[in-house]
Amino acid sequence: TYIFINDEFVDESKGQVSFSDRGYNFGDGIYEYIRIYDGEVFTAHEHYERLFRSAKEIGLNLEDYSVEGLIDVTKELAAKNNVVNGGIYIQVTRGVAPRNHPFPDASTKPVFTAFSKSYDRPYEELENGVKAITVDDIRWLRCDIKSLNLLGNVLAKEKATQNDAAEAIMHRDQTVTEGSSSNVYAIKNGKIYTHPANNLILNGITRRVIKKIAQDLEIPFIEEAFNLDFLNNADEVIVSSTSVEVMPVVQVNDRKIGDGKVGQITKQLQKSFDNYIESNS
Ligand code: PLP
Repeated sequence: TYIFINDEFVDESKGQVSFSDRGYNFGDGIYEYIRIYDGEVFTAHEHYERLFRSAKEIGLNLEDYSVEGLIDVTKELAAKNNVVNGGIYIQVTRGVAPRNHPFPDASTKPVFTAFSKSYDRPYEELENGVKAITVDDIRWLRCDIKSLNLLGNVLAKEKATQNDAAEAIMHRDQTVTEGSSSNVYAIKNGKIYTHPANNLILNGITRRVIKKIAQDLEIPFIEEAFNLDFLNNADEVIVSSTSVEVMPVVQVNDRKIGDGKVGQITKQLQKSFDNYIESNS
């Protein structure tokens, strides 16, 4: 299996990173996760443009890289590993320097790594829906940056796992923000509600696709925050991400959503999402 590290494709066993990498010491870096469907990279421009935005927001210099160059790397890595359906993880850290909080010398080069993996779409869950729990959102105030600092997300997801749930839906003082690794939507009376794309959530690429699909289907897509009570009483609930796509949530904590079955609007969105994959990969 090949990985990509510091501008080279090497065997996984040779993929060493330094003890003094700032990603390792401080979580000082950013990442993306991109899907491969039928051997084609899905929404790669959007992902890499977001990577460059994250870099800019944390003052990480990516001037040696370009969106097109990175798309080529992604395609080559997937091809070398024969990934037909799966994903590519890309991470960039601020580089290797003696451990010290301030940014290192400007000549420090970012450390760029990527790996690919093969797997199928989560058909069973997409059809039947999953359970979620709710947890406090204890994260920092720049959740719009796809940063390597994922401890808040990790603790939330672990709690979900301990409770046999697929996702943890986070809230700040009752206001639902997003999932530990997904965006969250509540559907009520034929309208889709989701938290606005501000500093409190990651502006998901899947969220952007869902917004477009909803507009095409003429389903109102309302970017307004809602609370836990609204979530519990929604007709349908969805979480979305690059890996779980348009995932129905049929139970939140101990409570069924609607009649506990996947709802009609969710099904419509899923169908359009499938068509979107077909025509964009
Ligand atoms: N929110 C968080 C915290 C995430 O980690 C992710 C993806 O991993 C998402 C939202 C969904 O983003 P995307 O649709 O770009 O995968």
